[in-house]
Amino acid sequence: MGAAKVVPNSNPQHVDTGDSREQNLVYAPEDIAPFGKTLTVNLLGSGPKACSFDCPYCDLGRTFTRLNRLKSEVTLPSVEAIGAAVSEAFQKIHATGPAIDSILLAGNGEPTLHPEFPEVVRLILDARNTWLPGKPVRIMTNGFALDTRKVTDAMNLMEERIVKIDAGSERMFKAMNSPLSRTNLARVLNGIKKLRDVTIQSMFFKGPIDNTVKTELDDWLEVIAMVKPKGVIIQGLSRQPANPELVRLDEDQIYAIASLLERKTQIKAIVLP
Ligand code: SF4
Repeated sequence: MGAAKVVPNSNPQHVDTGDSREQNLVYAPEDIAPFGKTLTVNLLGSGPKACSFDCPYCDLGRTFTRLNRLKSEVTLPSVEAIGAAVSEAFQKIHATGPAIDSILLAGNGEPTLHPEFPEVVRLILDARNTWLPGKPVRIMTNGFALDTRKVTDAMNLMEERIVKIDAGSERMFKAMNSPLSRTNLARVLNGIKKLRDVTIQSMFFKGPIDNTVKTELDDWLEVIAMVKPKGVIIQGLSRQPANPELVRLDEDQIYAIASLLERKTQIKAIVLP
């Protein structure tokens, strides 16, 4: 999922892997807080953004392709193309560097939208084991597919699962995410129970949508306390959001939310102001 600092930009450098170059399947390593030097695998190719949400803060712009038209309007990369690109890129990093800290499944939308997501995950893990053993594989997801067992099983093979939750009520969930499927907060929370552990990613801002007022923060804290994640990545807007009227928080406001989280829940906050 594209979300501020944690996700590479939509026009990234790529690792030059021949035919896959046009599809931007593997981005060049870059520093992505808090994961260090990270190689991002983009399962969705370089066509229009493919996502099940249309978050007003998305740094990839609006989501124009409806889910029911995804198959007919967007050509997603094949399992074979992703497998070949990943293998070649990992091998190249192994042979000539630069050293990386981590591998991230993210990119041009919601990675679990790839119709053969479990197969793709297995190929990536195999290539990691061969060429970059010991490097953690992470995924960033909006959680819409967590009610599908084969998706959660595949996610559980990775070292870290990062699910975004920016809201503690169904009303705010809708405003923050504009879901294009029948997902709601309750379904995402239910799906998280199938994960062996989870890190949460939460975005905060003000403006026409404001998830920083006390009642919203109280609801969000309640949800986070219930989920009991390993940690919460708390971030503010750092790039141009899809809705330009959204207002960025200053650093003090972001740190205030982080310390509120730690005080009320004793859950670790990782701040990306
Ligand atoms: S989940 Fe939201 S922020 Fe992430 S890619 Fe989709 S629309 Fe963008």
